[in-house]
Amino acid sequence: MRAFNFSAGPAMLPTAVLEQAQSELLDWQGSGMSVMEVSHRSKAFVACADQTEALLREVLGVPDNYRVLFLQGGASAQFDAIPMNLTAPGDRVAFLHTGQWSAKAIKGAKRQGLDVEVLADEAASGYTTVPAADSYRVDPGVAYLHYTPNETIGGVEFDYVPETGDVPLVADFSSTILSRPVDVSRYGLIYAGAQKNMGPSGLCVVLVRDDLLGRARPTTPSVLQYADMAASDSMLNTPPTFSLYLLGLILQWVKETGGLTAMAERNQAKASALYAAIDGSGFYSNPVAVNARSWMNVPFLVPDAALEKPFVAEAAAAGLTSLAGHRSVGGMRASIYNAMPIEGVRALIDFMAAFEQSNG
Ligand SMILES: *Cc1c(COP(=O)(O)O)cnc(C)c1O
Repeated sequence: MRAFNFSAGPAMLPTAVLEQAQSELLDWQGSGMSVMEVSHRSKAFVACADQTEALLREVLGVPDNYRVLFLQGGASAQFDAIPMNLTAPGDRVAFLHTGQWSAKAIKGAKRQGLDVEVLADEAASGYTTVPAADSYRVDPGVAYLHYTPNETIGGVEFDYVPETGDVPLVADFSSTILSRPVDVSRYGLIYAGAQKNMGPSGLCVVLVRDDLLGRARPTTPSVLQYADMAASDSMLNTPPTFSLYLLGLILQWVKETGGLTAMAERNQAKASALYAAIDGSGFYSNPVAVNARSWMNVPFLVPDAALEKPFVAEAAAAGLTSLAGHRSVGGMRASIYNAMPIEGVRALIDFMAAFEQSNG
């Protein structure tokens, strides 16, 4: 029996995708081997990687003047790689600080010797809000503005795209990419670790506008150097072949199930149902400002912290797994990424009502 897995990442994958991977595991495309065992330089695998990129461009609507890079080191490697590729030490950069992932990105920028201006810091709300669009101004002299569209731990999501004029906008899309349509042309650079909405961990997708290539510091490791990786089709070294293959299957699944518009409708319906259940209960609560509530990660509390452990344990016994909140914040968190079916959300809502009945 497949669990409804509410993990924040690595996260649930579509059953249809796993079944296809399973059916091809011992003999991929008549090769007599799994895709993990073929050379990344072989015709068949190069075609598979090309197809993955073409599908990503199609599904996400990536304009021609953007390179698609498949890198390793997760999203976390980009906290340093972005400064190394786009700036010189001492350059000024701007950040919006909305939670733990933006904090890590800020740390990386400082580590790389940048002069970091935090234009907004949501500490006063306990990181349950996003800054209002008109509450900060981006100095045209900064190298870029970095923000985190969806803070995975806090369940806080921007309901707008920051306006930066000619300053490149850089965004960590790890926990929201492919969840809805996005206007890529608004961004200088988008990066995302794969293990939330794009497949297995070990792969980080970077979309970077052409004019931002070629500025890398000479000390940048070659496998993180955007221009070198672009020139080699992300195959300067051995890429994470299985993750690339699986991303291709996921993109095909997104396309066949109606693309990002249909995905957005399903995701919004799932999130609305769960927030309505929380708000309507008087037992559960969500601390996030209503305009900043994430469609992907829904944290919630029970009135007594002593009920958290039994909630998580009883839910797991009912096939609803990984509902404990992040170790740093406690409480509960339901991550409801693309692959979580509405049936899983309904099952969670029913379980929550039953748990409230016996503990309320
Ligand atoms: C998961 C996550 C990361 C970290 O990804 P890794 O692949 O583990 O490095 C970074 N940013 C956000 C917003 C995330 O959700």
